[in-house]
Amino acid sequence: MTTRTRAATKLRPHAGSTATYARGCRCHRCQVAYRSYRQAQRDAMCERRAPDEHGRLRSTHPDAVHGVYSTYRHYMCRCLACTEAERVFQCAYRSRRRRNELTSLRLRGVGVEA
Ligand SMILES: [Zn+2]
Ligand SMILES: [Zn+2]
Repeated sequence: MTTRTRAATKLRPHAGSTATYARGCRCHRCQVAYRSYRQAQRDAMCERRAPDEHGRLRSTHPDAVHGVYSTYRHYMCRCLACTEAERVFQCAYRSRRRRNELTSLRLRGVGVEA
């Protein structure tokens, strides 16, 4: 018996690469390639950090805009402004999810008061 993933039937045999991964392939070789690429990127971003006056690892990347969640995530910046932006993002995310849960409860007719 042969086991074929959906991706394998679509794509010609290939060496795993981030380019194929970006096109949607999730075969083992592509996943490994993507993972090591992400890891290398993260390492590179981590290296471009320096402790600020509070001892927090702040990104020194020229493109890093501080005080935004994406910098916290992408540049691994842990400065006060970026950490605060991350906290706000997580709060908003959580309350958004809570609202969605309440909405779905209401849709199911749970806890509805007329
Ligand atoms: Zn692949
Ligand atoms: Zn920052």
